[in-house]
Amino acid sequence: MSDKPICKSRRDAMKMMLGGFAAIPVINLVGLGNVQASDLPPVDPATNPIAIALKYVHDATESERESYNRPGAPANEQTCANCAFDMASEGEWRPCSLFPGMAIHENGWCTSWALKS
Ligand code: SF4
Repeated sequence: MSDKPICKSRRDAMKMMLGGFAAIPVINLVGLGNVQASDLPPVDPATNPIAIALKYVHDATESERESYNRPGAPANEQTCANCAFDMASEGEWRPCSLFPGMAIHENGWCTSWALKS
């Protein structure tokens, strides 16, 4: 058996701890499929740059969907709940593939809306 101590110094211990902290985000990525949408922070339409660029709103009735007239469904029926980028089939708050790590509202809308098949 080796006579080497597991940690030779405080520096080695710190390296081990930092290595452990660095692994946490990787573990989170691996487990991303298990994250509940209710655990995700809602997209902030006022400050999120993607939301601003895509004119995302939590309430589609307040959106510009009528003027964009996206194909696939009448504008007044287009919401995040029937969008192809919606990654859930139920729930008020849902993950959207265009907003990783955040939740969109089932009644939301943005200019990337496309009919879910
Ligand atoms: S891409 Fe679709 S689900 Fe995502 S915010 Fe836009 S309309 Fe909603």
